[in-house]
Amino acid sequence: MVGESMKRYELPPLPYSYNALEPYIIEEIMRLHHTRHHQAYVNGANAALEKIERHMKGEMQIDIRAVLRDFSFNYGGHIMHTIFWPNMAPPGKGGGKPGGVTADLINKTFGSFEKFKDLFSAAAKNVEGVGWAVLALDPLTEELRIYQVEKHNLLITSGAIPVLVLDVWEHAYYLQYKNDRGSYVDNWWNVVNWDDVERRVRSAQNHGKASLSL
Ligand code: MN
Repeated sequence: MVGESMKRYELPPLPYSYNALEPYIIEEIMRLHHTRHHQAYVNGANAALEKIERHMKGEMQIDIRAVLRDFSFNYGGHIMHTIFWPNMAPPGKGGGKPGGVTADLINKTFGSFEKFKDLFSAAAKNVEGVGWAVLALDPLTEELRIYQVEKHNLLITSGAIPVLVLDVWEHAYYLQYKNDRGSYVDNWWNVVNWDDVERRVRSAQNHGKASLSL
């Protein structure tokens, strides 16, 4: 992360229009979520990098612990949302059940798609406060794992590679579902892009072990 000339992060475009996930996620949520919330994490990560860079040049003193914590939070937010958007697709293209390697691994790890869905939904509905539910491939065992992430930034300590993430911060659903996070989670399955998940699972299988030098 730290170098002489650090790259800056940019907001990636959505792979569909803001109203494409209706009726399950309304346009107003998607527009605010992408252009305000995700953009704020990009800006926050870049601002932290700027401070670190100026510190390294001797231009300013920083509280390194606070700045790195700030970077972790915002960078985590940027990465999670960057995975979240293509993890979804318009109803019809999204939804249904996975196939391929994803289906095989889900059946092997959880017994069936329905059991996996129940566990992932429970993880999402029961995140304490704000955070995420995450399905990740563990390169050590080549099994899928379900995690909860508080806020954005417990992810980076884990070696597992996220393949499917669900944002359960209130900004992800409140304008449509109010405090009914459960209905949001139940409806979200209609827009899961299993093709994208399959691509991520295959990529994680190919690169995970190499990246951990196993
Ligand atoms: Mn979010």
